Amino acid sequence: MRLRWLNKEEAASAMLHKVVFLDRDGVINRDSPDYITNLQEFEFLPGSLEALRRLAEAGFTCIVVTNQTAPARGRMAPETLAEIHGEMAAAVAAAGGRILDIFICPHLPEESCSCRKPKPGMLLTAQKKHRIDFSSAVMIGDSVKDIECAHNAGVATTVLVQTGNGEKAVRELSALGIRPHHLALDLPAAVDWIVTPRRSEKEGPPGPAGPSGQPSSGK
Ligand SMILES: [Mg+2]
Repeated sequence: MRLRWLNKEEAASAMLHKVVFLDRDGVINRDSPDYITNLQEFEFLPGSLEALRRLAEAGFTCIVVTNQTAPARGRMAPETLAEIHGEMAAAVAAAGGRILDIFICPHLPEESCSCRKPKPGMLLTAQKKHRIDFSSAVMIGDSVKDIECAHNAGVATTVLVQTGNGEKAVRELSALGIRPHHLALDLPAAVDWIVTPRRSEKEGPPGPAGPSGQPSSGK
């Protein structure tokens, strides 16, 4: 078999477009200051399962990116974390959605790894593994570090939800001079914004029909 280079169109079509990266705690499920250490403590936020189904129906691919230090702190076994994620993905699938992959940073802050958000490591690993087009990708998070992580990786669009740490994050981001592209009440509202086609780039990306826009401000 002869090898050949892909042409521009073939290369573009081989990429995964319309990816939505989601933080876990405070976005999909209720957060806890004491960590989610077992299945009983994992509780979907209202409307989040349906929101994930709507993303799938609109042709978006969902990937979860989450810092989880509880195993490293001795608060839970790594197997329990895997069990929680298995159950979470199964519940999402049963509701008609799909989580393609889950990336975890298991490190403590003092380990200075390259994957703990706001560092871009998890997003870059996901991009390499799944050939993700960041220009049509979105990050949904409830914390400053989620939005910063997306900026640091070059993900085109950011949505901050006001569940979880969201309210505090609004103030902190403003102090940092960073503005997410959209501020949503919760995950269902974030999905409303993402799946609604926009008439112009100024109105913000991505929408099924629209290309990526520019950040509305900040770095
Ligand atoms: Mg969070």
